[in-house]
Amino acid sequence: MTELKELTPHDAIPQEQATRDARQRRLLRAFLPELVSLERILAEAPEQVVVQVVERAQVGAMELPIYRVDLGNASADVPVIVMVGGVHGLERIGSQVVMAWLRNLLARLAWDDHLKGLLQRVHITLLPILNPGGMYLNQRSNPNGVDLMRNAPITAQDRSAFLLGGQRLSPRLPWYTGDPEQGMELENRALESVIDDLLPGRPFSVALDCHSGFGWQDQVWFPYAYRRRPMRNIASVLALKLIWEQAYPDHNYKFEPQSRHYLTHGDLWDYFYKKVNRGNAGTFLPLTLEMGSWRWIRKRPRQLLRLDGLFNPLVPHRHRRVLRSHLAFMDFLLSAAASHGNWLPDGADESMLREAAIMHWYRDNE
Ligand SMILES: [Zn+2]
Repeated sequence: MTELKELTPHDAIPQEQATRDARQRRLLRAFLPELVSLERILAEAPEQVVVQVVERAQVGAMELPIYRVDLGNASADVPVIVMVGGVHGLERIGSQVVMAWLRNLLARLAWDDHLKGLLQRVHITLLPILNPGGMYLNQRSNPNGVDLMRNAPITAQDRSAFLLGGQRLSPRLPWYTGDPEQGMELENRALESVIDDLLPGRPFSVALDCHSGFGWQDQVWFPYAYRRRPMRNIASVLALKLIWEQAYPDHNYKFEPQSRHYLTHGDLWDYFYKKVNRGNAGTFLPLTLEMGSWRWIRKRPRQLLRLDGLFNPLVPHRHRRVLRSHLAFMDFLLSAAASHGNWLPDGADESMLREAAIMHWYRDNE
């Protein structure tokens, strides 16, 4: 069990910053500016925001905190929305998108009665930089060379994609699963402790884990990654997609089960989905936002010459467009969680939507 260290936003974050020596602070500003920005945002957060360090990732002599940020109704029976960024250290834009939403929420808390009312009915938990060590080192994996998204104890049921689906050969090759005998990596154990603490017994919860680097278009993936057959809550995913597309017809996310793209071993959200929904009457929907970075490269092929350019928009106007373009979806998920009783299907609706979902996503499975 991970020990949670309580911090208060007003004194602890500056203290965290102050205890680092000048050299470390310079290194962080150069190689992990996202952490510096996050600490700055948290230092100014209003006092109803609870900040904790759930774990510390070690890189050389440096200890990099993994922050958990909570706001909204703290009782155990309200719906929850979980936002995660920076699982893959190279995909910095994922962390930046989560932090853009955090900044937006905190700014509005000062005056927006509509938001304050909403937060009485829902809880928000954010882990904006889950893999600070990987991000500091500008690599996809964590400091041990493990791909956190291949590291959960779950094995693909069918042939997974070669290497990409997760490999146990070497941490020097990408998509290394780690050693299953050793259990999950520190970052994943930290996330698991948050999930275990937060989600069981909730009527509804949704997670959005923000990634980049795959495809031309922004995609919203849902489980499973380990098998091609649909998840039990597939009707709820279709219902969510329908209310999103009715309200925001000009947005262009493509909702798909991850298994349509490739099967992987060790998918973290498959593991949490099964764990949380097992014997639970409520619904937990883990979603992954895959921002389509290939577009950014097509518009600027020079980006291919830089490793971070494969995963992140480098031109300032495009970067800002990406940061603002996902705020609507995040706000939508917050409202959808708070009002889940009005759209989550049950009974005959659920069977009908399940049929439709199978026609839509799984027809060519057999
Ligand atoms: Zn990723």
